[in-house]
Amino acid sequence: MGAPIERAAETLAGAREVVVLTGAGISVESGIPDFRSVGGLWERFDPFDYASRGAFERDPVRCWELFRELAEVVGSAAPNPAHFALAQWEARLDRMTVITQNIDGLHQAAGSRAVLEFHGGSRELVCIACGVRAASMGQAGVWPPTCGCGQVLKPDVVLFGDPIPLGVWGASLTALERCQGVVVIGTSAQVAPFSELPLFAAEQGIPVVEINLESTTLTALPTLLLQGPAGEVVPALVDALAGRSVGARP
Ligand code: NAD
Repeated sequence: MGAPIERAAETLAGAREVVVLTGAGISVESGIPDFRSVGGLWERFDPFDYASRGAFERDPVRCWELFRELAEVVGSAAPNPAHFALAQWEARLDRMTVITQNIDGLHQAAGSRAVLEFHGGSRELVCIACGVRAASMGQAGVWPPTCGCGQVLKPDVVLFGDPIPLGVWGASLTALERCQGVVVIGTSAQVAPFSELPLFAAEQGIPVVEINLESTTLTALPTLLLQGPAGEVVPALVDALAGRSVGARP
């Protein structure tokens, strides 16, 4: 891994503004399973039966079998070395924007300041009938959590068929237009429109480094793949960057 890490560090060393795109893979070492890997959540929960807008409208109690499992595992998870390394790198840059598909809040818990939650977050619940919002924590032990109006509450996350939160798409494109380097970590890049963000960067000629256990559809782009677990590769990359004077704050 030494030589590829050094090549990636060389590619990113001059970047003062960086965008980091993350998926479920960055949180696997925090104990939160991803969706598509072997043993992932989709093996037991078909996305269209448990995680689509239509499924929630038809049978919200069934969807809560998945939401409950995720809420319990996310509630006891802590950031891992990949999340912490990104926060350390941010402190040396002019700007880092983390655009995450994850709903676990672990980037913020590790200290990252500019985090765009592309698929929402799990901290709040929302009523699709009357718009009332409630803190997820307040509902501990009550399954499924229900609004005063009688409707089962929905985690404030983007289900298949839901729109991307207002402002997040525009803010993501703005960050990508401004940056000089992109790092994509732990995503299979199969969920649009998030999967379009690395393509947009590559089209602008912005260097893209991918960190994943395996190659993905992005690997066909002019990206540099660092293959390995994010909890080891991200800290190694951030260490390699620290050793380069161009990337360090003057
Ligand atoms: P995915 O399950 O489709 O893909 C995960 C990717 O991460 C795979 O390419 C896998 O090879 C890689 N990976 C797994 N472990 C890794 C590790 N230790 N280091 C590096 N890479 C690793 O996930 P996705 O592309 O993010 O799309 C799934 C959707 O489900 C997203 O919307 C995501 O937010 C959501 N989801 C979120 C969480 C969470 O909040 N932690 C967990 C599961 C799913």
